[in-house]
Amino acid sequence: MAQKIAIVGAGWYGCHIGSSLKSLGFDVVIFEQHDRPLHEASGNNQFRLHLGFHYPRHHRTRIQSRDGFMRFIERYPQLSREIPENIYAVPREDSLIDFQTYKLIMTSSGIDFREVRECSVPMRGIDGILIAAERVLLIERARRYFEQRLGDSLRLSTRVQKIEQTPASVDVDGERFDLLIDATWGHLLGLPLKMFYEPTMLLYLETQDPFPAVTLVDGPLTSVYPTEDPNIYTLSSVPHTPLGRVDSPEAARAIRDGVTEELVEQKYKLMSDQISKYLPDFRDHFRLLGPQLAIKTKPVGAFDDRSCYVYRRGRTISVMSGKIDTIFFAMEQIVNILAAVDNTGDDPFGSALRHEIAARRV
Ligand SMILES: Cc1cc2nc3c(=O)[nH]c(=O)nc-3n(C[C@H](O)[C@H](O)[C@H](O)COP(=O)(O)OP(=O)(O)OC[C@H]3O[C@@H](n4cnc5c(N)ncnc54)[C@H](O)[C@@H]3O)c2cc1C
Repeated sequence: MAQKIAIVGAGWYGCHIGSSLKSLGFDVVIFEQHDRPLHEASGNNQFRLHLGFHYPRHHRTRIQSRDGFMRFIERYPQLSREIPENIYAVPREDSLIDFQTYKLIMTSSGIDFREVRECSVPMRGIDGILIAAERVLLIERARRYFEQRLGDSLRLSTRVQKIEQTPASVDVDGERFDLLIDATWGHLLGLPLKMFYEPTMLLYLETQDPFPAVTLVDGPLTSVYPTEDPNIYTLSSVPHTPLGRVDSPEAARAIRDGVTEELVEQKYKLMSDQISKYLPDFRDHFRLLGPQLAIKTKPVGAFDDRSCYVYRRGRTISVMSGKIDTIFFAMEQIVNILAAVDNTGDDPFGSALRHEIAARRV
């Protein structure tokens, strides 16, 4: 039975999996290269607790989001908050699907919404509007929660350099574990699927007035979404947020770290022009505060698939995260792997023969 488990990465996935495994009685160590949890993609995103409205073209993602949302508010009720007015609007001309089809897909997926004729801000060129009960993730509170919950299991400022797998153990920089979970979103060991890394830029904007969350769907569109600070929002755009598409995390980091003031200004112009087409008063409400930079890991060709996958290679489990609401699906699959040991009494990470051969070699 695997007792001592190493997790690399203290993003949402590493923290949730680590916290769940601790509750189950496992001896867990979580290695994180930064000096706080949720420092990379988990702390630099749109902070949307999805319900499935973003994914009319991907059934599995929609269903995982819908179910993950419910589980998230049950497990972490204090780590998100409601949004008073959360709008999904389908433009008449630029959307890939029409409003009636969009509504039909959400209804048939069991995702609840309210249809309205107008909202608190003027909009134009819109075919229809829904109000959805999505929430905002509270990242600073989540950091404090996981730091406290994980305690000594969290080894911050520790960058993992070397993994060695033997039939009997997996060694993380020379320390022995029964099992390793790579929760680095493909940065440490890669993932056994065709994928690429996408450096991204969202923009932080400030407003003095309350503004609704507005998401234009479906296709190469744009959204403005609140953060945990009531006066700060993020602006995101499907065509303008990506900064490139590269094969390695190093190349993605080089692009992210090379962003200039000029590029930020250019992106602000492009993104605010795009959203002003539908929200004509947008610029009167907001002023640019600065960029938010991150790196996304995406599967090649799996169009719009943002669901979560877990892969096992011997004693190593790799997590391909979907969205934050899909943390539960990763954990479910890890529990299935661990339960297989209990049910059969066998060690699924290496046969008896492998152990014997390894033992003779030393
Ligand atoms: C622009 C953008 C917008 C997004 N918007 C949303 C949204 O609104 N809602 C949503 O649900 N999802 C959103 N996502 C997706 C979401 O951010 C990710 O699915 C999620 O954060 C991935 O979590 P993770 O724990 O797998 O990875 P990460 O948060 O990237 O965590 C991986 C951790 O591994 C650590 N690490 C890497 N290598 C090593 C090493 N060698 N040693 C030690 N530590 C290491 C890193 O420092 C990092 O802390 C967005 C993503 C981006 C980029």
